[in-house]
Amino acid sequence: MATQVDMDKIVSLCKRRGFIFQSSEIYGGLGSAWDYGPLGVELKRNVKAAWWKSVVHGRDDVVGLDASILMHPETWRASGHTENFTDVLVDCKNCKKRFRKDHIDEKCPSCGKTDFTEGRAFNLMLKTFLGAVEDESSVAYLRPETAQGIFVNFNNVVNTTRKKLPFGIAQIGKSFRNEITPGNFTFRTREFEQMEVEYFTNPEDAKECHQQWIDERFNWYLEMGIKKENLQLRKHGDDELAHYAAGCTDVEYKFPFGWSELEGIANRTDFDLRQHSEFSGKDLKYHNTVTNEKFFPYIIEPSGGVDRATLAFIVDAYHEEQVKDNTRVVLRFSKELAPVKVAVLPLLKKNSDIVTKAKALRKELQKDFSCVYDDTAAIGKLYRRQDEVGTFFCVTVDVQSLEDQQVTVRSRDTMEQKRIPIERLKEYLQVEFSG
Ligand code: ATP
Repeated sequence: MATQVDMDKIVSLCKRRGFIFQSSEIYGGLGSAWDYGPLGVELKRNVKAAWWKSVVHGRDDVVGLDASILMHPETWRASGHTENFTDVLVDCKNCKKRFRKDHIDEKCPSCGKTDFTEGRAFNLMLKTFLGAVEDESSVAYLRPETAQGIFVNFNNVVNTTRKKLPFGIAQIGKSFRNEITPGNFTFRTREFEQMEVEYFTNPEDAKECHQQWIDERFNWYLEMGIKKENLQLRKHGDDELAHYAAGCTDVEYKFPFGWSELEGIANRTDFDLRQHSEFSGKDLKYHNTVTNEKFFPYIIEPSGGVDRATLAFIVDAYHEEQVKDNTRVVLRFSKELAPVKVAVLPLLKKNSDIVTKAKALRKELQKDFSCVYDDTAAIGKLYRRQDEVGTFFCVTVDVQSLEDQQVTVRSRDTMEQKRIPIERLKEYLQVEFSG
């Protein structure tokens, strides 16, 4: 049965177990910035690796890129960000809090009054200066999306890979937006990570290709373990679309604070390459060498947030159940995403033979699996600790192991325990993880 979980529980578990800490906490924290702790960083790496495997290594038509965060300022004029990347903000005249106009209904979410200032446009790009002099000529922006790094490298990638349409370029990296109202933990922050594909296609195939990416990306979240009832697609209305987009559908997750966007999959038409050609004076048309035609490809863009996906995986994995008189908290991460795959636990930490054997076993297993060793509590408590962070298997070494060379393997989800000969343990785990 699905567990109803509130965000406070998630935030507190994340902090207590080392998934996510508030940034610069010892100084009182910085609003909207978060640090991934020892387990969080493993989880996030697994999310990115699974995405990369799915959209790059698992296909033969997508290649990767890692462009820099700082780009020529003309990039942002060409993309329209300098002029249009704005949210309308309003201030509540009563409590003086500031909101994004499209995020409030009539009443102030803070004090309930309805008296707001006129809306004014606020550019979300974070500005900085490059070099020693801070003047207009040294202005640069921290990129608000990774996509533009891909568009400006279009010719470089085509020329070096000789890719033919349709093909894509994928990138994972940090983006920055000076959000007016960050919040909901890591859901909306000013510094975040994106995972984006720009998929270039013939204009006449764009519609079909768009649908294929929508299906593929929706299914990826399911494959990674999100429950179907918590995932939905939402097609944008015409009034929501960017002026150049021919369509956009969001993958949404049912967070405790409501259905919210994990990823947008847009048909961006030929806008981006056309704009960059015009502003740079470089021809970014694709040359079809068979028909000898030159044209701007259409672009399908699945654009997801690493932090939002990671948060959704944590929330969705959270599970509480009653075991005898106790509540067992389990993070039911998928095999691919679980930050720790195997924990090796000695039943008696005072028995040096058991400890030596368990440590040797951990050393061997960590060659193939992300693995931890823990002897800082009694076995029941050790199991509960591992359940709470989603460790897939616990391997326990006991007195009997010293004689029969077997260990107990306990499954996180079923709590079932099996005796497995040490010499077959690796093979057993390999089969379990590949299934
Ligand atoms: P929203 O409407 O929630 O502000 P958006 O539609 O502006 O999001 P996009 O520009 O489509 O977002 O960005 C693509 C993805 O990048 C989003 O689906 C989201 O996962 C992630 N993302 C965007 N802004 C943020 C943010 N401030 N914090 C964390 N992730 C973000």
